[in-house]
Amino acid sequence: MGKKLFIPGPIDVRKEVLEKMSTPMIGHRGGDASTLQKSISEKLQKLFYTDSTILLSTSSGTGLMEGSIRCSTLKKAAIFSSGAFGDRWYKMAIANNVPADLFKVEDGKAIDIEMVEKVLSTGEYDVITITHNETSTGVRNPIEEIGDIIKKYDDIIYCVDAVSSAGGIKIEVDKIGIDICVTSVQKALGLPPGMSICTFSQRAIERAKQISHRGIYFDLLAMYEYILKKDYQYPSTPSLSHMFALDFQLDEILKEGLDNRFKRHEDMANLVRDWSRKHFEIFTDENHLSNTLTVIKNTKGINVSNLNKKLQERGYQIANGYGDLKEKTFRISHMGDYTLDDINELLDNIEDILGLLNKVY
Ligand SMILES: *Cc1c(COP(=O)(O)O)cnc(C)c1O
Repeated sequence: MGKKLFIPGPIDVRKEVLEKMSTPMIGHRGGDASTLQKSISEKLQKLFYTDSTILLSTSSGTGLMEGSIRCSTLKKAAIFSSGAFGDRWYKMAIANNVPADLFKVEDGKAIDIEMVEKVLSTGEYDVITITHNETSTGVRNPIEEIGDIIKKYDDIIYCVDAVSSAGGIKIEVDKIGIDICVTSVQKALGLPPGMSICTFSQRAIERAKQISHRGIYFDLLAMYEYILKKDYQYPSTPSLSHMFALDFQLDEILKEGLDNRFKRHEDMANLVRDWSRKHFEIFTDENHLSNTLTVIKNTKGINVSNLNKKLQERGYQIANGYGDLKEKTFRISHMGDYTLDDINELLDNIEDILGLLNKVY
């Protein structure tokens, strides 16, 4: 049975988008594939406000994150983490024998700008990684301000994990100065999981050329060179089904209008925040709230798993807290193609199940 998913990915996919996944196959080495992949790239450049090359990967976002840290670190990577997804960059670095140091902030807090300034001023680092939207804590990190610091250096590659924000929150890649911005399609872009995307700047290309062990499948430079030489084609067979759906969905997104789409996400976020403040508390630092997901402190001591079970009987699903934050918090995502009506419907059901209505009859 299909449920309305208010978990931070995968989320509901509209029927028309799902249908595009069943488009008959084409050869991945023909002109049709080139045309499709070029069309997707041009639309994604608009979404990311960038002239950088777009790379598509038949993997979830984690693959491109691993590829980016591996293909950009010559000296050492400075990993700034505000939660589980920030930590993931560090684990990847270590697993790939990439030199890295981890700088962490408390759960629910954003990356501290002064800390970034101090760390980079040591001159030890030539890569920095930031999680734009920390999906475990609901923090939106200040990627613009961090970009301003990085602009003072000419040898630091700026990698951003925008997996749970791209398509829902404006990210002006070129203006901010992001070299590699990674996202997955199953979150705010509203597609089935299985494909990921990154931007790849000229600076990142030049850096990758200096790195000898870039791996094979996630060698970003190899993808870039193949695209150049073979007219937007990829070294290995991509998920063409995702590409048909992505090309269509990007048209829909651009038709909605990027600013309208970002505003809709902000409106949904405000609705969930107001509701959360009324009945519970927001877990996250109020100055750094994400527009695609809200993490709510379980101040009423409700049984989150039970709530979710009851919600699922009614056709909805939310997310428990991530890792150690399980039962202490719960998470409602508001991303993709949902509307205020969908969110209201969910919140009404939660109120009903928890008996929060207190209606006067
Ligand atoms: C979901 C998520 C990931 C993991 O993405 P996959 O597509 O599952 O590999 C990474 N970072 C953030 C911030 C996420 O929300």
